[in-house]
Amino acid sequence: MNKAPLTPMVDLKNQYLKIKPEIDAAIQEVLESTAFINGPAVKRFQQNLEQYLQVKHVIPCANGTDALQIAMMALGLKPGDEVITADFTYVATAEVIGLLGLTPVLVDVNPSTFDINIEALERNITEKTKAIVPVHLFGQCANMDAIMEIAKKYNLYVIEDNAQAIGAEYTFQNGTQKKAGTIGHIGCTSFFPSKNLGCFGDGGAIMTNDDELAQRCRMIASHGQSKQYVHDVLGVNSRLDSIQAAILDVKLKYLDQYIQARQKAAEYYDRKFSNHPEIIIPARNPNSTHVFHQYTLQIKNGKRDALRAFLQEQGIPSMIYYPIPLHLQKAYQSPRYKKGDFPVTEMLCASVLSLPMHTELTEDTLEQITNAVLNFFNN
Ligand SMILES: *Cc1c(COP(=O)(O)O)cnc(C)c1O
Repeated sequence: MNKAPLTPMVDLKNQYLKIKPEIDAAIQEVLESTAFINGPAVKRFQQNLEQYLQVKHVIPCANGTDALQIAMMALGLKPGDEVITADFTYVATAEVIGLLGLTPVLVDVNPSTFDINIEALERNITEKTKAIVPVHLFGQCANMDAIMEIAKKYNLYVIEDNAQAIGAEYTFQNGTQKKAGTIGHIGCTSFFPSKNLGCFGDGGAIMTNDDELAQRCRMIASHGQSKQYVHDVLGVNSRLDSIQAAILDVKLKYLDQYIQARQKAAEYYDRKFSNHPEIIIPARNPNSTHVFHQYTLQIKNGKRDALRAFLQEQGIPSMIYYPIPLHLQKAYQSPRYKKGDFPVTEMLCASVLSLPMHTELTEDTLEQITNAVLNFFNN
């Protein structure tokens, strides 16, 4: 019999309880206004997020997957265009590329930082390549110096998948600092409940400093409408509802505190695991802060699955993000790819393990988690 879980992977309940009066009041205000769609809370959150990210435009939408789709539509990408992204990511990144009839071109990642491999990226550029989608996986930015340089050299768009790294900061070689999602031509994020800035349902947003692109995104998200009942382009229906926006506006004030709590938990894990011969702690990209959407270890010598089972018996949850590389998923099968093509991603899928990571982890809980992991190897 497994024990009851010590703590969940993400503790949304206790996070909510700490700010319950504020959240409840914000929801109540929307209920009483009955401005459920495009109410004042949506505009308020949009403006506060623009301020936080230091970006000219935030376009709220229904979820992170929609954000990626709307961004690609707004850039005018056409069937047959090639879009390069990482093989080691959540499926949504590649899914929208395929849905729009674009060709996802997958490339391998770096074994220590899990971000897109720059040499492989450049090697895969062809005449059909139109865009790069770097994923700021697990909470830290990809190598944006190199990606922006390549994009300039080959005249490509950069669409950041920032679903996991909102609040992370990137420092360019020349010292310029930018928030994740505001570095490329356009950025996309998700407010799914378990994301670092999560609502109580689905939500997402697009970010850009380009006025024209922002205008196109707004139009596409609203049925391609330029003014009421005038439809200039094919669009979709993708809105952030007012209740979610009101919740997010409260939580945005706490985002930096939440990030610090995650970083503190990560430092605790690091201290316990850094010298272990069979554990590799998550490497940091020196140019990015890490907001630890996930704390992801690599477990050596084929022991990952046994460790996971052992932890489960002790009531300690863990997750495998992600167990199958995109190129080996049935939906993304292509004559382009076969097993063995992306050795780093394939190795990571067999060895990564993410431990509980959230804003409510206490030293006592962290001690129990780390002791259990270390006990597994001592047995
Ligand atoms: C969560 C996530 C998405 C999709 O966000 P949804 O809001 O669930 O549609 C896209 N990309 C990455 C990397 C994600 O983690």
